[in-house]
Amino acid sequence: MEIIDGKALAKVTRENLKKEAEELRAKGIVPKLAVILVGSDKASQIYVRNKSKACEEVGIEYEEILLEEDTKMDTLLDIIDDLNNRADINGILLQSPIPEHLDINEAFRRISPEKDVDGFNPISLGKLCLNQDTFVSCTPYGIMKILEAYNIDIRGKHAVIIGRSNIVGKPMSLCLLNKDATVTICHSKTKNLKEITQQADILIAAIGKKQFVTADMVKTGAVVIDVGINRTEEGLFGDVDFENVKEKTSFITPVPGGVGPMTVAMLMNNIIKATKL
Ligand code: NAP
Repeated sequence: MEIIDGKALAKVTRENLKKEAEELRAKGIVPKLAVILVGSDKASQIYVRNKSKACEEVGIEYEEILLEEDTKMDTLLDIIDDLNNRADINGILLQSPIPEHLDINEAFRRISPEKDVDGFNPISLGKLCLNQDTFVSCTPYGIMKILEAYNIDIRGKHAVIIGRSNIVGKPMSLCLLNKDATVTICHSKTKNLKEITQQADILIAAIGKKQFVTADMVKTGAVVIDVGINRTEEGLFGDVDFENVKEKTSFITPVPGGVGPMTVAMLMNNIIKATKL
C-alpha cells in the first residue's frame, strides 16, 4: 500500500509552472487570474485564500472581486463581461457556491471559453466529452495527474466514481473514459452500491459524506482516490474511512494532502495555459 503524497506532487507542479510564468514574464506577458466571490461562505473564503497564495507562489497576478450576498444576476453578468473583455485578465474563476437567487449555470456559460480556467463552461465540458483539447476542471485533472505520476494503469481498468456532480463526478468520468477505462458512475439512486464498488480497480469517492466508503466496499489492491472534504468539529475528513480502507488498497489518497493540493495546482496550470493561448 502506498499513500499518495498530493502535497509533494503539487509542490513540484507549482515549481515547474513558476518557471513557465517566469518565461512568460521575460517576454512581457504577465499571467493574471480574476476571482469572483459572491457572499460570505466560509469554505469558499478558505479556497479563495489558498488559490491566491498559490498564484503568488507561481508568479500569477491575482485580482479578487468581492460581491455582496444580494448581488443581482445582471450585475454578476456585467462583471463577467467586463473581465472577458479585459486584455490583462487571462483566467476567470467564479467561486461556487453562489447565493441561491443567482443562476450559476448561466454565469459559467457567460465566462469566455478562452478564460474558463475552471472548465465549467458548457463548451469546455463539451470538448472534454469529445476528447478535444480544452480546460479540464481542476479536481478531475489533478486526479489524472496523480494517476500519471504514480504510474497507475488506467487503460481497460474498471473505474467506479461515486458522485455525478458537474464539477467532479461527470468530468472525472470523461477523463477516465478518454484514457480507455471502463467507467461506472454511481449516485444517490444507485442500487447495490457496494456490489459495484467492490468491482472497482480505481474507486473515486466524490460524495461529500464523511467516511462514507468503508473497507467492505473496496476490492483488495484497488486504487482509492478520496475527493471529499468534510469539515466537522473533530476536524477535516474525506469521504473514505481512510484508516480501515488503506490496508486493502494498492494506492490511496489521504485527506488532507491528497486531491486538494493538486486541484489548486491544476488551476495554476490552466491559468498558464490560458495565458499562452
Ligand atoms: P455534490 O455536488 O454534492 O455531489 C455529490 C454526489 O454524491 C451527488 O452526485 C450525489 O448523488 C452523490 N451521493 C450523495 N449521497 C450518496 C449516496 N448515499 N450514495 C451514492 N451517491 C451519493 O458534491 P461535489 O461538488 O461533487 O463534491 C463532492 C465532495 O468533494 C465534497 O465533499 C466536496 O467538498 C469535495 N470537493 C473536493 C475538491 C477538492 O479539491 N478536493 C473539489 C471539489 C469538491 P445525486 O446526484 O443523486 O444527488
